[in-house]
Amino acid sequence: MTTLTHLECSACPKRYEAGKAWNLCECGAPLLVRYDLAAARQGWSREWLASGPSSMWRYAPVLPVSQPSALVTLGEGWTPLIKARNYGASAGLPNLWVKDEGINPTGSFKARGLACAISMCKELGISKVALGSAGNAASATAAYAAAAGIEAHIFMPKDVPQANYIECMSFGARVTLVDGLISDCGRMVAERKAAEGWYEINTLKEPYRIEGKKTMGYEVAEQFRWRLPKAIFYPTGGGVGLIGMWKAFEEMEALGWTGPERPKMIVVQADGCAPVVRAFEQGKDRCEFWENANTVSAGLRVPKPLGDALILRAVRDSGGTCVAVSDRASLEAGARLARLDGIFAAPEGAACFAALDRLVQSGFLTADDEVLVYNTGAGLKYLEAYSTLFPRTAGGEADKLGGLITPR
Ligand SMILES: *Cc1c(COP(=O)(O)O)cnc(C)c1O
Ligand SMILES: [Zn+2]
Repeated sequence: MTTLTHLECSACPKRYEAGKAWNLCECGAPLLVRYDLAAARQGWSREWLASGPSSMWRYAPVLPVSQPSALVTLGEGWTPLIKARNYGASAGLPNLWVKDEGINPTGSFKARGLACAISMCKELGISKVALGSAGNAASATAAYAAAAGIEAHIFMPKDVPQANYIECMSFGARVTLVDGLISDCGRMVAERKAAEGWYEINTLKEPYRIEGKKTMGYEVAEQFRWRLPKAIFYPTGGGVGLIGMWKAFEEMEALGWTGPERPKMIVVQADGCAPVVRAFEQGKDRCEFWENANTVSAGLRVPKPLGDALILRAVRDSGGTCVAVSDRASLEAGARLARLDGIFAAPEGAACFAALDRLVQSGFLTADDEVLVYNTGAGLKYLEAYSTLFPRTAGGEADKLGGLITPR
């Protein structure tokens, strides 16, 4: 059972009591959930994990749900760690691994965050949730809300991938398509929530999504047998997964499960929306709003992440870096990974493979390094994007089109 004690602000000393529905701190910063890790260390051992569930709930003592009846699960987490042998060999990284989140419910790692967030809504007696989402968060919200019997109000950009729209409709969510960006969608939720009685679960505006996503950090450690890889590539939109993993590394050290060493955290964004890369390169602590954000990687289309300070701090403290790549390079890297290793990644995950080549060429990574790429979603959810690589034309064009993939 949970060892949750309280919540605290990520930016100021203010604390908040557990068992109530919170959003942001009154200072405007996201809240972080805290546990009695000393008690957890006494009463729990990493050796026991193997007898727990084959899902992210194997880490239940450091997750916030306290009533088993509130837990809403569709089998999220405990995803495979796969060696990308052939891509690794071709890129000069013989120890290249992929954590494949595409097999999660609704085809992305958003399932982890929303399983936890929606379970907490159930525990706290919330009956209506609302969020703005550029894609997979909407799908996962719709699915878990359906399973929980909670009403989901979802605002998404009208050019959201077809898969996300169809999933939300199928799961019975109340969907509004917005002629704008995720930032506009989020604003519409904020404006209407009080009158409608909605609990806002936009990225980082509710504190429990990070908790679900942090299980990615626990799983990496467990699957690498309690030593962490040298570098982790993470396709960063709102940065929740990266902030969550960083929190997991701290918690695992406090639990005595891992040491003080940390992987270099590598933020990957798209050329058409790279606010974190720009802030990193300019030596800033916060991002500036990215105008006219545009990329096929819907999960990366976040013009100004609310957790920017936390993301930038983790990257710098880890000795990591930030890289932006073009959509074309991402899709081609995705097709190359599929062809070489049989893994069909979302363009967000594929962007990391494009970035990887660049960091090998620059000498930031070397052949001895154990490197992990988080493929955050399934390529199957992005057929519109990938179809630009493989247009269907009559008359035996397939051979020529196959030439777009350039294995080295
Ligand atoms: C949401 C999303 C991301 C970005 O995740 P954050 O943790 O918010 O940075 C990356 N990839 C996919 C497939 C996503 O759905
Ligand atoms: Zn605060």
